[in-house]
This record gives sequence, C-alpha cells and structure tokens, in this order.
Amino acid sequence: MNIRKNDMVLVIAGKDRGKKGKVRFAYPRTERIMVEGINFIKKHSKARGAVRQAGIIEREATIPVSNVMLLCSKCNKPARVGFRFLTDGRRVRFCRACGEVID
Ligand SMILES: [Zn+2]
Repeated sequence: MNIRKNDMVLVIAGKDRGKKGKVRFAYPRTERIMVEGINFIKKHSKARGAVRQAGIIEREATIPVSNVMLLCSKCNKPARVGFRFLTDGRRVRFCRACGEVID
C-alpha cells in the first residue's frame, strides 16, 4: 500500500470526491484508510453504562485506499507514487510528477 498514516491525500472517488485530508489511520491488511473529515457516517448508539452517550454520533469511516491519491508536498498535486531505493538500501516513495522523495 503506498499510503501511510499522516499523508495528505485527495479523495478521487466516492461521495467526498475532491476533498483533501490527512490520513488518520491506515489499514494495510484491508487496503483501507481513515481520513480526517472524510466519509462521515452517523452511528446511532444507545447508552451503555456511564461511558457511552445515547444519540447519534458522527464519525469518520474507512474508505478504500484506491479512492484517494497522495498529495505531493512539493508540487502540490495528486501524485502517482513510485518506489526507489536509496544508496543505503532503504525503499522510499517518490512523486512521479516532480521526482521528489516523499518519505
Ligand atoms: Zn510532486
């Protein structure tokens, strides 16, 4: 998966298309991510003990990672991401548009 926690991403599909946000969690196993302010769902919950409030709670739900593109911090565009090896052997991501290493 080429998106990680704390990346800035642009949503390119789904009801939040065109919005930007920061990745709050990444779930590589299911290829889904949670993005700040994206894909709010309403949860109806009953009070359960003293901890949980009854009512409707709005919170983010995960979206498929294929619905977003990474935003390059240098050229500020949605970037197609490539991988490249540094001289020390580390594998890093880079922006295919401007060549900037993202990690
Ligand atoms: Zn770039």
